[in-house]
Amino acid sequence: MNEIGEKKFRAGQVYEWLWQNPVRQIDDMTNISKGLREKLSTDFVLPSITIDHTQHSEDGTFKLRFRTHDGHYVEGVLIPTISGRYTACVSSQIGCSLSCRFCATGYMDRKRNLEFDEIYDEVVLLNQLCEKEYGKKLSNIVFMGMGEPLLNYKNVLRSIERITAEDGLAMSPKRITVSTAGVAKMIRQLGDDKVKFKLALSLHAANDMKRHEIMPINDTNNIKSLVEALNYFYKQTKNEITFEYILFKDFNDSLQDADELIKIYRQVPADLVNLIEYNPIDAASFEKPNEDKVEAFMYYLSKHNVNARLRRSRGKDIDAACGQLANKDH
Ligand code: SF4
Repeated sequence: MNEIGEKKFRAGQVYEWLWQNPVRQIDDMTNISKGLREKLSTDFVLPSITIDHTQHSEDGTFKLRFRTHDGHYVEGVLIPTISGRYTACVSSQIGCSLSCRFCATGYMDRKRNLEFDEIYDEVVLLNQLCEKEYGKKLSNIVFMGMGEPLLNYKNVLRSIERITAEDGLAMSPKRITVSTAGVAKMIRQLGDDKVKFKLALSLHAANDMKRHEIMPINDTNNIKSLVEALNYFYKQTKNEITFEYILFKDFNDSLQDADELIKIYRQVPADLVNLIEYNPIDAASFEKPNEDKVEAFMYYLSKHNVNARLRRSRGKDIDAACGQLANKDH
């Protein structure tokens, strides 16, 4: 602003339009004079993401397909719960390189990492949608959308810094969960960086043989290495750790599987096991387990004092499984 002969306070105004009340285009910065807006538009662009498509489920879930400035698609989901919480699920990469067998994104190539401001944009747009539809701000954010957040480490941490900043969205880091398919080295890095948010490990199988079958990353990051890394993370941060475990029919839903899961749970200061009902996708042959198997699994865990919660899959009538919507013909 100095360089172009404008008053200093204009910089603060523009900053607010970028971070606190973000706009999609410079022309929407309404307290800035037309002349200055034109000048800024000549010299700068806002490479913001836009909403390309919205799906609304009968259970209240919204799924958004975002379009990036260079024409890629990623997804975000807004999930209202009966307890009055509103969770945003955001993506960290365009596509994913980890090829988990049960995940629609895993069947796409990784195109590129999302920049920190693109991730921030996803949160802003989901927050605006939440305010418009439910009159409330987001209460939680989970990095469980497309991509592996710990393989886009710097941008994910920088986006969280902005989300939690007073001159950003001022959200508590305790309301943010980063979910990883298990990159042991980067879990340790989170510990070294003394992050304040929560961590979830997508375990999904409780022995290396089965995990290798569904998550190729297990070949280089086996369960033992992940257990060690999680313990290190906890030692450094004392932050909450959750295990995510999708139940697949006749694959990991027996009581023997539950037993193996309990053994891993005991080796880590984990607070919770989230059992997740599988949301089937066309590309994979996995199915969701029978209700009696799910109940028996849950009962077995609670009998052994494991703090477990069953998360029913949401948005079944829309393409709410990760990667389903972005992967559709545009
Ligand atoms: S589950 Fe996550 S890490 Fe695995 S392929 Fe899908 S997006 Fe990537």
